[in-house]
Amino acid sequence: MTTDLQAVLDRAAAGGRVTPGEALDLYRSAPLHALGAAADAVRRRRYAGAEHIATYIIERNINYTNVCVTACKFCAFYAPPTAQDKGWTRGLDDILRRCEETVRLGGTQIMFQGGHHPDFGVEYYEEHFSAIKKAYPQLVIHSLGASEVEHMARISGTTAEDAIRRIHAAGLDSFAGAGAELLPARARQAIAPLKESGERWLEIMETAHGLGVESTSTMLMGTGETNAERIEHLRMIRDVQDRTGGFRAFIPYTYQPENNKLKGRTQATTLEYLRMIAVARIFLDNVAHIQGSWLTTGKDVGQLTLHYGADDLGSVMLEENVVSSAGARHRSNLREIIEMIRGADRVPAQRSTTYEHLVVHDDPAHDPVDDRVVSHLSSTAIDGGTAHPELTLVEADR
Ligand code: SF4
Repeated sequence: MTTDLQAVLDRAAAGGRVTPGEALDLYRSAPLHALGAAADAVRRRRYAGAEHIATYIIERNINYTNVCVTACKFCAFYAPPTAQDKGWTRGLDDILRRCEETVRLGGTQIMFQGGHHPDFGVEYYEEHFSAIKKAYPQLVIHSLGASEVEHMARISGTTAEDAIRRIHAAGLDSFAGAGAELLPARARQAIAPLKESGERWLEIMETAHGLGVESTSTMLMGTGETNAERIEHLRMIRDVQDRTGGFRAFIPYTYQPENNKLKGRTQATTLEYLRMIAVARIFLDNVAHIQGSWLTTGKDVGQLTLHYGADDLGSVMLEENVVSSAGARHRSNLREIIEMIRGADRVPAQRSTTYEHLVVHDDPAHDPVDDRVVSHLSSTAIDGGTAHPELTLVEADR
């Protein structure tokens, strides 16, 4: 390694800021282990005193409709409004039943996630969020993103700011940062030409942060974007974060190749993913948490991310239909996610949406053993999978 790259890693490990150009050099050229060691040093500095802990959350994705007018090329989940035999929408009763199951299984958060339905304006989300909060006030609604806000505001003939105020008042706690995909223009246009621009996505998130609605941020890797575009994506997030401080976490995940128009011609490799986790931990010095995505990369890679700068492994996802439709078949349960974290020599802790430690599993002898708390991938892409019929989470006799 050149002295310059090692000097950049040393500066980052000591708490210094890295420029976008330096981040690109690190991403392209730094030796993997040196990069991971520096990112881990950044993590340990940030969480000094709790650096032995890695977190997870129990949540459920609730997919309310697959009908969508936006036709993203990487998406295997949506049905266009014209495909009436393929489109479905869940009723409120069904949604509330899924919330009840989430609470019963110890889940603390729901991600309300779906297509850009041509009839769903702000009113739809107000009605659903207020009904969920009325029935289950303990559930955190961590859902949607700038793309949904842009869409619902257009349908209702109002501004994004008004839409955010109204859905927040109805019960939305924070935005999940959906729809970020790739923020730089060329890469975004190539895979999601009908979505708002990356600048607009960030502008809406900045508006939300200004209204007191925080969010996470995401990145979709592996759809043919360049290394420079990946780093530019990080730069765009960091610049907004310098102004707002509203992004709680950064979560890169990988494109899944099945059943979509991109047909898997490009994909991110495991090493590219680990390098991104590390560079994100080093470059995003103003974002608290980096999450490794075991759902799209697999449990082994998820576990490795904990040594490359990640401090969180996301969720035991009680239901997931979106990336599983595109081929992500990794499943986990509570016991496994705890073992994944222990296998990385960390102490597992169940966290809240805002990253408070709810339960720290200090003693393996007292680990929770509830095998009902398991990821269910009810995908149209999996034989026997179910995107829209009833999903049974709990065996009748348990
Ligand atoms: S990613 Fe979201 S917005 Fe894009 S087509 Fe799929 S459901 Fe629609």
